[in-house]
Amino acid sequence: MKIICIGRNYIAHAKELNNPVPSQPVVFMKPPSALLINEKPFYYPEFSKDIHYETEIVLKICKNGRHVQPEFAMDYFKEVSLGIDFTARDLQSELKAKKHPWELAKGFDSSAVIGRFIPITQLPSVSNIEFHLDLNGEKVQHGFSKDMIFSFTDIICFVSKYFKLQMGDLIYTGTPAGVGPVQIGDQLNASIMTTDGMVEVLRCGIR
Ligand code: ZN
Repeated sequence: MKIICIGRNYIAHAKELNNPVPSQPVVFMKPPSALLINEKPFYYPEFSKDIHYETEIVLKICKNGRHVQPEFAMDYFKEVSLGIDFTARDLQSELKAKKHPWELAKGFDSSAVIGRFIPITQLPSVSNIEFHLDLNGEKVQHGFSKDMIFSFTDIICFVSKYFKLQMGDLIYTGTPAGVGPVQIGDQLNASIMTTDGMVEVLRCGIR
């Protein structure tokens, strides 16, 4: 399985990092070893002093496909969750300045936190998923998927031109505004709106 991530997919987030709004999806990957599952704690790595959380809707790909056409794109996932794309922002800034790839800042161990998956049939609307992140009990990110620059369909069509989608792949679809640093001792909780109301699907303590 692979972990495909979309960068700068919400205008307000692109602006908060002083990045241009992209004309096509910004795509990067994390290795499978980056996954952090089952509410395990995140251990702050020694190579960074500025680890940021980025809360994102994550699609779980349910069938294989290449060159997916728009009318079929929404058949490629039946479950979604929330994930945290942990980013070593200090390292990323250095790599960006040198025009190097981002992997060291984005693909390190435990940098892809993933929550519990929810069937899309339990969502009020797949085209406008509401979610939020609480940091130590205070809401710091609040997103609606309708604000994405590239929709789930756009992302699946674009990515599958380059990478064969395979069952079990995860796509992190980008973060809304409000990203920020974490400290040892912090607690992150992420929730998604379902037909039963807001449901917490992800918990992650920083150690
Ligand atoms: Zn991200």
